[in-house]
Amino acid sequence: RAKAEERNALRFFSADMVTAAREGITLETDLRRAIANREFELHYQPQIDLRSGRIVGAEALVRWRHPKRGLVRPLDFLPFAEETGIIIPINEWVMREACREAKSWQRMGLPRLRVGVNLSPIQFRKLAMRDLVVDVLRESTLEPELLDLEITETILMQNAEAVAAELTELRKLGVTFSIDDFGTGYSSLAYVKKFPVDRLKIDQGFVRNMKSDPNDAAIVRAIINLGHSLGIETVAEGVDSQDQVRLLRAEGCEEAQGYLFAKPLPAAEFVALVRENATMKLSA
Ligand code: C2E
Ligand code: MG
Ligand code: MG
Ligand code: MG
Repeated sequence: RAKAEERNALRFFSADMVTAAREGITLETDLRRAIANREFELHYQPQIDLRSGRIVGAEALVRWRHPKRGLVRPLDFLPFAEETGIIIPINEWVMREACREAKSWQRMGLPRLRVGVNLSPIQFRKLAMRDLVVDVLRESTLEPELLDLEITETILMQNAEAVAAELTELRKLGVTFSIDDFGTGYSSLAYVKKFPVDRLKIDQGFVRNMKSDPNDAAIVRAIINLGHSLGIETVAEGVDSQDQVRLLRAEGCEEAQGYLFAKPLPAAEFVALVRENATMKLSA
């Protein structure tokens, strides 16, 4: 009986694996086609200066307009794209497109806006980041200081020495760096000292419960103070209430992004929002 059960379990398991493998193959083929067919698009989430209420930049977030599945969110394909390396051409496209777009906003008469792009750990294993950034800046003619590269603590953790050297090289080009999801990784404090960091993006997990959880509020306050002591700006992520804005401003947090202000928007809608010259209403 045990044998039969084992066999069934085995059959069940392998059927599962076949399905998984088949889905994997479909996804991989789909993603490769998506690059060729230009199925990716960028949405832009405004970043607001908490002192003036003005939009000072945007984070570019990739979306996949799948011919059958509709709009696919990054978390539904990025982990797979990371595993297979397809993330590299995707991220290259993202950086090119974001910089091109940010420059086009200037031509439309919008104020100079910063644009943030997310980088992947695997991009640093290839160590050709500098060539890519040089190329993208030349092609787009975007001012380097308007390109903000968002890196995670995972990137900083692996091969820290090599990454530090690479970031220092990139920094010489004039681009800036933000540490994304700050506070969720390990030994955050050491990284801040070791790498040329311009901004800390406070993870939305801490921001979300700031009002109800004193521990989260304490962590947010500590990150903002850390930034102040080191001359690094802080950006609160996932801000969705005026209560949060009040607390963040009281602590001197420089910038925020979140659903309270706007969700990530298609480029045209983002431009319209900036055009209205919407100064976000911030509670005191
Ligand atoms: P992230 O870089 O931390 O981006 C912030 C995520 O939080 C975005 O989700 C955004 O839509 C969401 N968000 C912003 N404000 C709020 C809010 O007030 N409430 C809530 N609940 N969520 C909010 P999205 O666009 O689904 O992106 C998820 C993650 O996917 C990103 O996290 C980033 O790690 C990754 N990602 C997105 N685009 C790219 C890309 O082009 N390249 C790479 N390598 N990763 C990307
Ligand atoms: Mg990000
Ligand atoms: Mg983030
Ligand atoms: Mg995140």
